[in-house]
Amino acid sequence: MILTLKRNVSKSEITRIEKKIKSYGFKTHYSKGASDVTIGVIGENAILLKEFFEADPAVRSIVQISKPYKLASRQVHPGDSVISCGNKKIGGGKFTVMAGPCSVENRASLLKTARMVKKHGAAFLRGGAFKPRTSPYSFQGLGEEGLKYLAEARKITGLKIITEVMEISQIEVVAKYADILQVGARNMQNFNLLRELGKINKPVMIKRAMSATLNELLMAAEYVLSGGNQNVILCERGIRTFAQSTRFTLDISAVPALKKESHLPVIIDPSHSAGVRELVPSLCLAAAASGADGIIVEVHHDPKNAFSDAAQTIDEKTFADIMQKIKPIAEAVGKKI
Ligand code: PEP
Ligand code: MN
Repeated sequence: MILTLKRNVSKSEITRIEKKIKSYGFKTHYSKGASDVTIGVIGENAILLKEFFEADPAVRSIVQISKPYKLASRQVHPGDSVISCGNKKIGGGKFTVMAGPCSVENRASLLKTARMVKKHGAAFLRGGAFKPRTSPYSFQGLGEEGLKYLAEARKITGLKIITEVMEISQIEVVAKYADILQVGARNMQNFNLLRELGKINKPVMIKRAMSATLNELLMAAEYVLSGGNQNVILCERGIRTFAQSTRFTLDISAVPALKKESHLPVIIDPSHSAGVRELVPSLCLAAAASGADGIIVEVHHDPKNAFSDAAQTIDEKTFADIMQKIKPIAEAVGKKI
């Protein structure tokens, strides 16, 4: 349920309303728009409180939140959320480029790729230290050693770090090094992991599971938001369809559809969607045109010899070319790189 307060309502009236909501055991979500202050009443059957607020002198109107996700919805939070990561911002008027290898392989290789993506304008370095691999015999990542290399790359280049956390026991160590914690597609509905990520104070990017609806993705975000962590980013990384020319199918319409429903930033992953490097540039440009808030793309100084996802990893020249072409497209839809 959303309470829209009377125009020019005082701070003390807002505090009184919030206290009143909490006294019934519900959570509140404050939002200030151009002309209105709204308070979201969050909890099961919040609408039952309606009668206690209908005659309240500070309340102008009451609307029920019709969607199962509350804190993720635009109804509760009409303006776009902008996530701050030190001096970097994600969302709003910004188009953020995250780039780097699929996995952190060794120190020298990571630093080489980090310098490369920085040179061409990336804001974040990506790279998995804990890897969710389809085969238990494939390279599983360097663990904390890999996180240390990421932190060193940040120190040298100024790039922020995004890296995956696969399970609850890894949260502490990943949060120690990372600027954004990534929840992989295979963990999108690991509700216990999401709940724990709601308790940390670092941004979390949730990748859409390969067979998840957008509703399910938003409910995954709701787990983190309802735990108290408001810094959530959504990522479309391709879904399973009957199409065979790509590894997954990039659901480009997920961008406007998510933006219609939610205030959370949306990032596109063209690499896992395509699965083949030749298709990655087009999907990057399409991401910018769709109004996405950025891309996360797999880049390597020697793509053919990458330890994981080599087939979809692009080289320096391709990345540089994408960065040139993507700028005017992002700008055409009102975003700056
Ligand atoms: C990755 O980003 O390297 C990754 C494993 O992605 P996803 O979870 O989308 O498969
Ligand atoms: Mn990968």
